Amino acid sequence: MSINYKELAQKYQTPYYVYDFDYITNQYNELKESFKARKSLIAYALKANSNLSVIKHLAQLGAGADCVSIGEVKRALKVGIPPYKIIFSGVGKIDGEIQEALEFDILMINVESAAELNRVEKIAKELGKVARISIRVNPNIDPKTHPYISTGLHENKFGVDIDTAKRMYIQCNNSEFLEPVGIHCHIGSQLTQLQPIKESVQIIADLVRNLKAIKIELSFMDVGGGLGIIYDDEKLIDTYEYAQAVLESMFGLDITVVCEPGRFIVGNAGTFVTKVLYEKVNGEKRFVIVDGAMNDLIRPSLYNAYHKVEVLNNNNELSKCNLVGPICESGDFFAKDITLPKTEHNDLIAIHSAGAYGFVMSSNYNTRGRVAEIAVENGKDRLIRKRESFEDIIALEEEFIK
Ligand SMILES: *Cc1c(COP(=O)(O)O)cnc(C)c1O
Repeated sequence: MSINYKELAQKYQTPYYVYDFDYITNQYNELKESFKARKSLIAYALKANSNLSVIKHLAQLGAGADCVSIGEVKRALKVGIPPYKIIFSGVGKIDGEIQEALEFDILMINVESAAELNRVEKIAKELGKVARISIRVNPNIDPKTHPYISTGLHENKFGVDIDTAKRMYIQCNNSEFLEPVGIHCHIGSQLTQLQPIKESVQIIADLVRNLKAIKIELSFMDVGGGLGIIYDDEKLIDTYEYAQAVLESMFGLDITVVCEPGRFIVGNAGTFVTKVLYEKVNGEKRFVIVDGAMNDLIRPSLYNAYHKVEVLNNNNELSKCNLVGPICESGDFFAKDITLPKTEHNDLIAIHSAGAYGFVMSSNYNTRGRVAEIAVENGKDRLIRKRESFEDIIALEEEFIK
């Protein structure tokens, strides 16, 4: 990746996110290619990065969309992802969201509880529609990842156990307003071991076979997302082996494979670039203070996540420091006890692997405008989201001042 961060800083100011669209293309194609032995749908998980230009780019490659709110469904539709490639997931869908999803006639609703299935049935009946249903099965497998991004154990709030799922499929089959079309599991994020995935896809494939035996035939087996990426020195799951494991589990079944990668597609396409404001030493401790903060990129604060930090200067006077933002919280840091070169005012710092769960988790905390987002494609850069101004931040409050 040869992105000229300095030039972009001059053109767009800092902090900013920049995404390499050619990298996104490669990641998408690599995964699609791995599943070529079968009909497949790569439904990109919008929540990782839902910038309209990012998803438009993926739409043009043929991607579908995995959405966790009706807002995401509308984003997907807006950039031309066809309804028949859109999936709506999430443990807490609101009535209005279910209604709109049915009106948009999307591919399927991923249902996560028996109570939710009843709601969907009632709403479909009111609308006189048939809801295409996929049920999220919780296979009770430990994905061996960070507890905050682990979803495949019964102790997590996601999905239903196998017996409940079976009863729900039977309910679908007996209802005029429900059509069972898919099965779904997603055991966690940033997965780096294949074994838990293998086990969970086996479990859901077995359920597909059991259902087939009672004449409930599903068309889609959705194996979720979660493929890990390199932040530091992780050993990754090989995409081809991943696809093989999934395809093997489906042996003898005439079913389309769906997968829902988010991080894998965009994580390493993105960099967060910030500039140095000051250095200071409190007692023994060195701090490098930058213009970006936890409101822009919260992963270090939220998950204690590691991001590789690169100082873009030629100084080789190295020492340990904390890299922190200007926000009034001790949790406002990008890295602790890392060795960085001595910096000067205005030196740029690139925080890598920030394309997923970066900008989308940003906020206006401390009345800081959300930063600019930039795309680089074919060596050319373009703005894909303007930096928010003070006026943007107060727009929805101003008229209410008494
Ligand atoms: C978050 C999520 C994904 C994407 O996860 P990644 O780790 O970013 O690949 C896929 N499916 C569902 C249901 C999700 O909640």
